[in-house]
Amino acid sequence: MLVLVINCGSSSVKYQVRDTEGATEDAQVIAKGLIENIGTKIPNHTAALELMAKDLEEPLHGKTIDAIGHRIVHGGDVFSQPVIIDESVIEKIDELSPLAPLHNPAHVQGLKAATATYPGVPQVAVFDTAFHATMPEHVFRYAVPENFYTDYGVRRYGFHGTSHDYVTGIAADFLGIERSEFNAVVAHLGNGASITAIEDGKCLDTSMGYTPLAGLVMGTRSGDIDPSVLTSVLMQDSTMTTERLDTILNKESGLLAIAGNNDMRTVVDAMEAGDERAKLALDMTSYRVAKYIGGYNVAVGGAQALIFTAGIGENSHQFRTLVTDRLGALGIKIDEEANKVRGDHARIISTEDSAIPILVVPTNEEKAIAEATVELVAA
Ligand code: ADP
Repeated sequence: MLVLVINCGSSSVKYQVRDTEGATEDAQVIAKGLIENIGTKIPNHTAALELMAKDLEEPLHGKTIDAIGHRIVHGGDVFSQPVIIDESVIEKIDELSPLAPLHNPAHVQGLKAATATYPGVPQVAVFDTAFHATMPEHVFRYAVPENFYTDYGVRRYGFHGTSHDYVTGIAADFLGIERSEFNAVVAHLGNGASITAIEDGKCLDTSMGYTPLAGLVMGTRSGDIDPSVLTSVLMQDSTMTTERLDTILNKESGLLAIAGNNDMRTVVDAMEAGDERAKLALDMTSYRVAKYIGGYNVAVGGAQALIFTAGIGENSHQFRTLVTDRLGALGIKIDEEANKVRGDHARIISTEDSAIPILVVPTNEEKAIAEATVELVAA
């Protein structure tokens, strides 16, 4: 099946056409691209998708798209699975906009534009939050007054679910463990980063919360902080606004705030050159990851594997070492030779006497979305 995978942001559209029957990743990816400047040079999402359809004419050689899969950030507690798009689904995604004000409105534009550009082609929504729907209530609730939850939907949702789900499946297969009996900790470390506790193949807990700001120290996001920091700054600085605080915590914190740069390669290079700020930033970041790994090991009653994925998790052997060097108490040991080998497939990077294997598993959200789309459309 030829599946068009679309990720619509407010000013950009990322897309990939995949042939789900292709034997290899190269054979599956028929075309991909990015259209930017929506709202400035390109008037709207419909115009962007028309441009995309033009760009696709040549690589498609007259073949038609069989189905469209959309990456949707927030499914709230409405969507716990991918769904076929119809008008009521679009409406519900729109209604969830207060939970993801930057993303869901753009997705709705993208869904409407795709319907206009590809009339009659079945479309599927795949939600970043869906995989985390299995978290039990004592994990997803915050200890705040009940009406925060009932009136505003204040609870932990979790994100990067498509990636955590995909990587969990690959790792279980690779290790020859039945997924339904697989306990693991999955660290998705990119510019945005989250870590998930997997129990019996499902999500038990995850580090992102009500929004993707919670949890790990990220490229530009603070991760967990004491919420009183916010009220205190607001009370002490009369020029501070809630909007400004939101920008600071999401875009000016994390590695960027401590090391002066949000790119892991640059920060690692700086640390190796003796930069003290870079060292502190990497210590803070790796310490936080290690602390979650410890906690999630307890949560799942002992993980059978530790899995690294995404830009940093797949590529930065230095950062993996910084994290795993803190895991001695768990008997988890990295093999420095294996750790340095680059690869585009799942592999083990721990020593033979490590208590559990450490894996690097490349994530592939587009592939996962295409597969989920085919599964629903074929049914
Ligand atoms: P996102 O999808 O959240 O924007 P990515 O998964 O693309 O992020 O990860 C981006 C991060 O991965 C950056 O910090 C970047 O420095 C890091 N990264 C990418 N390639 C490498 C590499 N070869 N070595 C080390 N870090 C890398």
